[in-house]
Amino acid sequence: MLKETYKEAEDRYQDLQIKLKHWSHQYYIENNSEVADAVYDAHLQELIALELAYPDLVEADSITQTVGTGVYKTSFNKTAHAIPMMSLANAFGEQDIRAWEERINRIIGAETPRTYVFELKIDGLSISIDYKNGRLYRAATRGDGRIGEDVTPNIFTIKSLPKDVQGLGDCTVRGEVYLPKAEFIKVNEARANQGLDLYANPRNTASGALRQLDPKITAERNLDLICYGLHLAEDTGAEVSDNSTADSDDNKVLTHWHALKQLEDWGFHVNKDANHLCTSIEEVISLYHEWQEKKDSLDLEIDGAVVKINETHLQKTLGVTSKFPRWAMALKFTAEEAVTKVISVDYEVGRTGIITPVANLEPVLLAGTTVKRATLHNFDQIARLGVGLGDKVSVRKAGEIIPDIVSVIRDDESNLMDSTSADCQISENAMRSQIHKPSKCPVCDSILEQEDVALRCPNIVGCAAQIQRRIEHWVSRNALDISGLGPSIIEQLLEVKLIFNPLDLYRLRYEQLIDLERMADKSVNNLLVAIQASREKAFHRFLHALGIKHVGFNVAQLIASLIPNLSELEHEVLVNNGQELLKLDGLGEKILASLIQFFQSEIYVQIKKDYYELGFNFTEITQRKLSDRFSGMTFVITGTLSESRSYFEKLIKDNGGKTSSSVSKSTSYLLCGDEAGSKLEKANSLGVKVLAEDEFRRMLE
Ligand SMILES: [Zn+2]
Repeated sequence: MLKETYKEAEDRYQDLQIKLKHWSHQYYIENNSEVADAVYDAHLQELIALELAYPDLVEADSITQTVGTGVYKTSFNKTAHAIPMMSLANAFGEQDIRAWEERINRIIGAETPRTYVFELKIDGLSISIDYKNGRLYRAATRGDGRIGEDVTPNIFTIKSLPKDVQGLGDCTVRGEVYLPKAEFIKVNEARANQGLDLYANPRNTASGALRQLDPKITAERNLDLICYGLHLAEDTGAEVSDNSTADSDDNKVLTHWHALKQLEDWGFHVNKDANHLCTSIEEVISLYHEWQEKKDSLDLEIDGAVVKINETHLQKTLGVTSKFPRWAMALKFTAEEAVTKVISVDYEVGRTGIITPVANLEPVLLAGTTVKRATLHNFDQIARLGVGLGDKVSVRKAGEIIPDIVSVIRDDESNLMDSTSADCQISENAMRSQIHKPSKCPVCDSILEQEDVALRCPNIVGCAAQIQRRIEHWVSRNALDISGLGPSIIEQLLEVKLIFNPLDLYRLRYEQLIDLERMADKSVNNLLVAIQASREKAFHRFLHALGIKHVGFNVAQLIASLIPNLSELEHEVLVNNGQELLKLDGLGEKILASLIQFFQSEIYVQIKKDYYELGFNFTEITQRKLSDRFSGMTFVITGTLSESRSYFEKLIKDNGGKTSSSVSKSTSYLLCGDEAGSKLEKANSLGVKVLAEDEFRRMLE
């Protein structure tokens, strides 16, 4: 397998790279396998062998380093930063900014001319990217400032980041990886539609996406990166950015502003609309106020601004303290975050039994409201934050109902990199107490089970908290929409054992309800009417109301479009193994597995019994077919058309046709838009008739 000469090896290496990248793209992006898995694997093994034999050949963008190779690692390698990534001291308002200038003046003299660079502080993850001879070589997270995690393959998935730059040479670029707000909203909408828990904020989502062992998942998230620091290797230590321990004399880059311009010229994404060269501290202060006002207009989350002394020689004169560079300062916006203390932690039980730790805080005023609680999401998050009871924490509101804990504030925070501070940490740790993982459900006492990052109460049928959440979901607006049935009424009904599952609602009588707290004649009658009216709702709402994992509103609609009936759906899932369901575009094995699990669960047994006893018959309001002209025909849709894919699917179904997601011999037509890929090739090779959009529309005339 090994090649005789280096040249031969190099040629074969390039050949393998091209082939594997092509197949990998087909497989991961186009969902299409051109070659058998065994062929792909054999080529990949040959490539890995070549890389081991000729390490010089290994390119940073090798298929073994990037997307979709199947050679995923189980953890990230640690990597040391040649220049430490220090954090910045914080200023909380005008006075702090002026005080910073005075400290600078005491060192360099008030008369010394200097300029300031104003930048926004993006709320993402700091990243350090090394280039060798202009090629992206390695990327690492901040970690503890000295040692970070090697996330090179993941960073490769960021489209806006140049990977090969002429003239760049050897250097380190620093920046902030973030998820644009629009992407965050998109991700959460998709999760809501799949019935998954929503992400709390763009920062955590970006962090989760970047720290994926499988870079393919990172690639799906459309992360972006804004660069703010450049360190040229020739400067041997002269970081031209956020921090420095440098003392070299031959800087190529004389100012930070110049470094930003240089990065921009090389094609790096810098925040050029916000970056500003200021001639006075007053100008910095006015920009700080200006951006505090307009920060919400940005497509990214910022948590303040940064001011840096522009001239590199002055940065060196100012130097660093044991904690921070003296020449830069983070300017925090007021009232976005507040500092408080963790008093205790409650464990909330969700609809599917997932336990969410919620911190009780010393009440603190934040953005106009008093905050007493903040979510900790899960135990991974607790470990990541390193938060314990009694800790001082920074809390933030990010448009969520319940705020987030962003970080733990330790008085010796930046000394973590400093070996002399070890004693200090120990004494601090001694005063705190850890947040323990509960072993039992706080509501029903069942022994909890670990499921991915979450803890789960397995008592699906009997756990009062889960039943309560399920009923709350059942009556919610997108499900069966029963108004007048709030959480406190549900709680009372559960307490007096009038209901055990959602279908028991339909057995409630006037005399049972009138005795409940805060219920009167009118509200009881309205509620009974609302409950009965919900029996007439469409099948997809009922399906969504069942709260099956991965079956959110959209998936429920999709399923109902094919099978609008409970008994038929059960038959399709359990007897037919979902063969018909899997033909639906957008319904995969994961959803099917979840449906199978549901139809085999105790919950379903209970619901099914009541469903027929109570005489339910949810169905879809069937649409009148427009015609039968596509009867017996199967269409596959590909490429970019003038309307959404679902528009054309509906048109085909309304005219008696079927759609499928993959081309086969039984495909009647491929409806093909612009930029069609492998499906078009496959259709051509199988002799399937290909229709352009106008031809398709003519068939309907
Ligand atoms: Zn429980």
